[in-house]
Amino acid sequence: MSWKDEYDPKLIALVEDVDRQIAPRLAEIDEQIMDNQAKVLTAYRDNHVAENSLLGTTGYGDDDMGRDTLEAIYAQVLGGEDALVRPQFVSGTHTIGVAELGLVRPGDELLYITGEPYDTLQQVLGMAGNGIGSAKEYGINCDYVPLKADGSADLEAIKARIRPETKVVCIQRSRGYATRDSFTVAKIKEMVDAVREVAPDMWIFVDNAYGEFSETLEPLDVGADLMAGSLIKNAGGGIAKTGGYIVGRKDLVERVSYRMTVPGIGPAEGATGSNLFDMYEGFFLAPSVTGNAIKGAIFEAALLERLGLAVSPKWDAPRTDLIQTVNFGNPTDMVAFTKAVQENSPVDAFVTPEPSEMTGYEDKVVMAAGNFVSGSTIEFSADGPLREPYTLYIQGGLTYAHVRLGIIGAAQATFFNK
Ligand SMILES: *Cc1c(COP(=O)(O)O)cnc(C)c1O
Repeated sequence: MSWKDEYDPKLIALVEDVDRQIAPRLAEIDEQIMDNQAKVLTAYRDNHVAENSLLGTTGYGDDDMGRDTLEAIYAQVLGGEDALVRPQFVSGTHTIGVAELGLVRPGDELLYITGEPYDTLQQVLGMAGNGIGSAKEYGINCDYVPLKADGSADLEAIKARIRPETKVVCIQRSRGYATRDSFTVAKIKEMVDAVREVAPDMWIFVDNAYGEFSETLEPLDVGADLMAGSLIKNAGGGIAKTGGYIVGRKDLVERVSYRMTVPGIGPAEGATGSNLFDMYEGFFLAPSVTGNAIKGAIFEAALLERLGLAVSPKWDAPRTDLIQTVNFGNPTDMVAFTKAVQENSPVDAFVTPEPSEMTGYEDKVVMAAGNFVSGSTIEFSADGPLREPYTLYIQGGLTYAHVRLGIIGAAQATFFNK
């Protein structure tokens, strides 16, 4: 008896072929996991993590040494001087929003240089939604420089667009729900260098969602000043139950901490309750979990391309985040595949996803998320709007074996059971 007995022999033959094809690429990712794991292990040792670092505080959370140590570890690993790593951040959007709103003041301008910001951030900034409490309502101009037709950043247009009132330049690393490529750390360096040519002291902020540990360098290592992300994506390693992080220059971390709490308190308070254990363990596992999710994405790209689907990125392309997109070309296959992803999940496998309306989206959205942590996208998940070319966004996976089973099962249900 082998796991392979469950599947069509033609599909298994294809899988075995794909395994041979991608082996050298997977070996590169294993090497990257080693580099990132070494960096994390060193930081835990350097910062003297002890059993009582994991305990957490209650009430005001004054003198939370476990929290201070974890923030020092994040700063060391991700290339900053200081960090905020808090369970009080409700999501990536909240964390990134606190950083962006914390940097600017009335009359300032905040400029995205990677095209339109992620949907939910548009509402924070006042580019969409009802605008209440947004940056725009505070008299902050928020704008973006469109990408070039090939999806790259328009460096000349960016340099021309920066004005004296431009206080913060923002870079979104991952594609989010856009069809562009994600920006590698090398591409982010080109953007940082271009901005510094015309504005050496500009504050450069990076939305690092999905990016952590997907390369061996991070945006702060190539000159960005501040970055933020979610703990229910890469940095939480699938273990953290909630929270976010902001890391970067010490003065800027302090500045945004007054937006996270209030002036006078800043970073000094915020009980960690029972969250520290998960946050420590999750960040320790994050290099490996992220690496395995990326190996899963490489497998998806190679197998689904063999089945005739258009995929992005391709299996052998550079990766800087977890997202794999697949175009199904028709709603039937897209929905069948998503249902089978759900059926191959550890939680709620018996639930059938149905395309449905979602706030902020014009088309119906279909979503498979059979996760331990609600909404977590470091866990194996797939979603997308039902519109041409019927693109599914597949991401995450706590183990490479699970992604393989999920994708093989979904491929079988969609293409071999007709
Ligand atoms: C996921 C994501 C966010 C927001 O994170 P949430 O936790 O979903 O609020 C922001 N930017 C990008 C690029 C993302 O992928």
